[in-house]
Amino acid sequence: MKRPPEIQINQFQLSRLLDEEQMGFYKEVLAKNVFCSHCGGVASKGIVVQELFLTDLNDIMVRGTCKICNGKVARILEFGEDKTFYEEAMKFRTDISNQNKNQDNQFIK
Ligand SMILES: [Zn+2]
Repeated sequence: MKRPPEIQINQFQLSRLLDEEQMGFYKEVLAKNVFCSHCGGVASKGIVVQELFLTDLNDIMVRGTCKICNGKVARILEFGEDKTFYEEAMKFRTDISNQNKNQDNQFIK
């Protein structure tokens, strides 16, 4: 199967993609399970999220900064392994590409 492209998403789109349980997992990981190479360990005060991506495997990639040292951190959450999530993510991709098309059409008019 052909892999979809990696796309950037915003916080609002993330909250649409994740259910309550997944969102809980996401928050927990960001709070205490992101490795910071500057601190040489877990970013124990959590991170500030700057960018979110839906990867080609439909995992969520987070880029941000460590709250302690302000160093750059990144973390991939492997939601794409969950078949239900993978399918939801594919639907989500279609939705947002349709939205973009509609916006283009409005622009032409
Ligand atoms: Zn750090």
